[in-house]
Amino acid sequence: MSAEKSIFQKIIDRELPADILYEDDLVIAIKDINPQAPIHLLIVPKRKIAKIADTSLADITLLGHMIGTARTLMQQQNMDDYRLVFNNGEKAGQTVFHIHLHVLAGRSFSWPLG
Ligand code: AMP
Repeated sequence: MSAEKSIFQKIIDRELPADILYEDDLVIAIKDINPQAPIHLLIVPKRKIAKIADTSLADITLLGHMIGTARTLMQQQNMDDYRLVFNNGEKAGQTVFHIHLHVLAGRSFSWPLG
């Protein structure tokens, strides 16, 4: 883990402002600052892991909790259709190297991706 705090670590530590929708011992859910859909949330673990590729079997509970948190937040907003995305690595579009689950909803999404 690098000594430099990620943007998300600073939000978790209340050193940067953010729209925080949910928080528990393991994760925080915030609104994305540059939304790609009417609803665009990020589920971020409090413990910094740089990339999904760096996770292991020991992180399965945390990863499941991230997905479960996304499901609960979408249920609360009566959203039946949504897209969950993890970008892993620069070529896949990852810009913040502290894992986060994108939760996108409120419009139609095309498939396959570009
Ligand atoms: P990724 O490109 O998958 O690493 O996603 C990083 C996401 O973090 C992007 O969608 C950004 O818009 C979002 N982001 C960056 N800085 C902030 C911030 N300060 N508050 C909320 N979201 C942010």
